[in-house]
Amino acid sequence: MKVFVLYWHPEPQSFNSAMFRTACETLAGAGHEVKTSDLHEMHFDPVSSRKSFTTVKDPNYFKQQIEEMHATEMNGFSAEIESEIEKIEWCDLMIWQFPLWWFGLPAAFKGWVDRVFTMGRIYGGNRIYETGVCRGKRALLSLTTGGPEKVYRKGAFNGDIAGILRPIHRGILQFVGFDVMAPQIVYGADRMTDEQRKQHMAIYTVRLEGIARESPIDVGIY
Ligand SMILES: Cc1cc2nc3c(=O)[nH]c(=O)nc-3n(C[C@H](O)[C@H](O)[C@H](O)COP(=O)(O)OP(=O)(O)OC[C@H]3O[C@@H](n4cnc5c(N)ncnc54)[C@H](O)[C@@H]3O)c2cc1C
Repeated sequence: MKVFVLYWHPEPQSFNSAMFRTACETLAGAGHEVKTSDLHEMHFDPVSSRKSFTTVKDPNYFKQQIEEMHATEMNGFSAEIESEIEKIEWCDLMIWQFPLWWFGLPAAFKGWVDRVFTMGRIYGGNRIYETGVCRGKRALLSLTTGGPEKVYRKGAFNGDIAGILRPIHRGILQFVGFDVMAPQIVYGADRMTDEQRKQHMAIYTVRLEGIARESPIDVGIY
C-alpha cells in the first residue's frame, strides 16, 4: 500500500512524535511505501491566502474556492500546496497523527485542510461523499487526548468521542470520499507512565502491521 502520514506537534520529543515515527517505521517495515508531512518541521503556514496560488482569477476580490477552481484548470497551485495535494492523490491510506486540541484538530492541522483540500482537485462538481475524488482511499485518525477514556463516553462530561470526531470523519474525510478507519486513540497520554505509553505504541504497531486487512467503520450521520 501507499501510505501518507501527516503529523503535527510543536515538540519533536513529544509522544505524538514517537507515535508518528513508530507508524512510519512499522509501515515501511511491513513493505508499504510511505510518504510523510511533518507540518511543524515544514513550518507549514495554516492561514489561507493568495500564497496558495501562482495564478490569479480575480485580483480585486479573493474568493478562495474560485481561485482553487482556476488553479486547478491552470496548474496554478504553489509548490507547497501542489506537493501536499499530490501526496493525497498518490496514497491508498492517509494517517493523521495529532493531539486533540479543544475537541478538534490543532490549528496547524486544520489550516492544512483549509489550504490543501481544494475545490477542483480534492472535491467539487458533485464529487463528494460516495462520488468523492478520494473514493477507494482510506483514512485513519491517530490521536492523543489529555482527558481519560471515561470522560469521553456517552453521558460523561465530554460526551462520546465518536461525536467529537464526527466533524473530521464526516465533514472532512468522508466529504471528499475517504473511507474512515476506526480511530487510534491514546487517552490521557500525558497522565500515564512511560511503560503504559510504550504498551500503547506496541498495540498501534500490531494494528498497523495488519492495517491492509482492516475494514472501514460507519461513523454515523444522525
Ligand atoms: C491548546 C490545547 C488544547 C487541548 N485540548 C484538549 C481537549 O480538547 N481535550 C483533551 O482531552 N485534551 C486536550 N489537550 C491536552 C492534549 O490533548 C494532551 O496534552 C496531548 O494529547 C498529549 O499528547 P502529547 O504528545 O502532547 O504528550 P507529551 O506531553 O508530548 O508526551 C507525554 C509524555 O510522553 C513521553 N514520551 C515521549 N516519547 C515517548 C515514548 N517513545 N514512549 C513513552 N513515552 C514517551 C514524553 O516525554 C512525555 O513525558 C489540549 C492541550 C492543549 C495545549
